[in-house]
Amino acid sequence: MKYWHDLLAAQAKARPEAAGFSDSVGVSWSYGALATAVAELSQVITQAGVRPGDRVVVLAENCCAVVAALLASSQCGAVAVPVNARMSSGEVDRILDHARPVVVLISTQIEGSAQTHATRLGAEEITGSFGAMHMACPYPSSGDAPADAAVLLYTTGTTGAPKGVMLTHKNLLYGGKASAELRDMVPGDVIYGVLPMTHVFGLASVMTASLYIGAEVLLEARFSAEKLYQALRRGVTRLSAVPQMHALVMQFAKEQGLDRLDSPVLQYVSSGAAPLDPDWKRRAEAFYGVALQNGYGMTEATAGVCATKNSSPGNPDISVGPPLPGVEVRIDESVAGGGEGIGEVLIRGDNVMLGYYRNPEETALVLDQDGWLRSGDLGRLDAQGFLHIEGRSKELIIHGGFNVFPPEVEAALNAHPQVVQSAVVGRRGKGDEEVLAFVQVSQDDQPDVADLMQFVRGQLAGYKCPAQIVLTEALPAAPTGKILKHKLLEHFAQQLR
Ligand code: ATP
Ligand code: MG
Repeated sequence: MKYWHDLLAAQAKARPEAAGFSDSVGVSWSYGALATAVAELSQVITQAGVRPGDRVVVLAENCCAVVAALLASSQCGAVAVPVNARMSSGEVDRILDHARPVVVLISTQIEGSAQTHATRLGAEEITGSFGAMHMACPYPSSGDAPADAAVLLYTTGTTGAPKGVMLTHKNLLYGGKASAELRDMVPGDVIYGVLPMTHVFGLASVMTASLYIGAEVLLEARFSAEKLYQALRRGVTRLSAVPQMHALVMQFAKEQGLDRLDSPVLQYVSSGAAPLDPDWKRRAEAFYGVALQNGYGMTEATAGVCATKNSSPGNPDISVGPPLPGVEVRIDESVAGGGEGIGEVLIRGDNVMLGYYRNPEETALVLDQDGWLRSGDLGRLDAQGFLHIEGRSKELIIHGGFNVFPPEVEAALNAHPQVVQSAVVGRRGKGDEEVLAFVQVSQDDQPDVADLMQFVRGQLAGYKCPAQIVLTEALPAAPTGKILKHKLLEHFAQQLR
């Protein structure tokens, strides 16, 4: 197999009637129906002027039409650019300026944000076997993206402005296969597709892995703890989510007085894309009734880098496990990490991106001649060869000459029963950096800040304890649920001393 869309061609040939993708607007496609939709949509975009090497922006919230749009772009030899429709006009425009797409396909069947973008961009409705979408044609064909690029995917923007990552067909084929094999997926599995397909975790580990194996995907446009809970009760067999989603579904269940899920068919649950803390792992395992596997990845590495496969319930080890087959991981201890064996995590393998689009300077900073990718994360390898992520080098807080890793402080806060989730960042003052904590709590069950501070002091050395804790009912988050840490200081400026 050579191309991303070859995965669909293979499923449509082998099992055309098998359940493929269904969504929250009531569309339900077999693999054969998906292939028909993709073929028709690729004709539409070809007629609109798309040539190999052009970009096709898919302004999306998860639904069947979006899956068809992404694969239609691939079928035309173009580069699909998945962009979450929940982004603001300013954020979308920055991406359009950078990616210069020949067409923008918009998933307007999902109520709300996408429609606003469609109107703003002067898009026209298109309909066919792919459903109803809107299409705008902002730039002429240039065909100038590298021939092997399949998608251009913008990073979450946790640490700054999102960067445009070029992933190749080979990257996606590797990522889909590795994800499916890691999860022991089988044809007929029922996968809950709430991770946005505009983020690498949803795109590679959910959509592409399901195409690889021929699983059924229940697409959900927006995360809701209640909907996730109901879907799990209805027969989802494998679930991948970010830690925040696990925390929120457990909070929902707790509010309903349900402490166990009791699903007879759920076999696998994983957490990835952000740090997992030991308390959440323990609580989630009690709730789901299966082990919680932890996986580490990034957009630049087509989602998967390392993952646990056989972690058992109650195992307090929150390492991210060994590298995926064929992936190499090395620690560069010359990058200050503040401890034995800790350094920057370097990655090499078929999962590593081609580079950042139209940004050779930034590409040169993270990719070397030998194919090693600098992750920007600090970690260490244990005796078993399992990777432990300590935090991001950009987010390392140096307070009083000591290193403070935010995930450790977050884990201490999250262990408190009234804390939903938390985010810790540093604030540079005169010569030193302060540790600040932002803690999400529910409206009607708020802890006392002094008690919470005391609770953290009982677990951590003094220099790691926050100088201030700000309670909030919502933290600024990306569409995946990942917390946008670089926005915290500005967002909560009013509440900070
Ligand atoms: P940006 O690069 O724009 O600042 P981002 O790095 O959050 O945003 P993603 O590619 O979505 O964008 O996220 C990858 C990062 O998420 C990793 O570099 C790492 O810091 C973090 N991460 C992913 N999985 C885990 C995990 N299991 N444990 C700890 N951190 C993780
Ligand atoms: Mg990053």
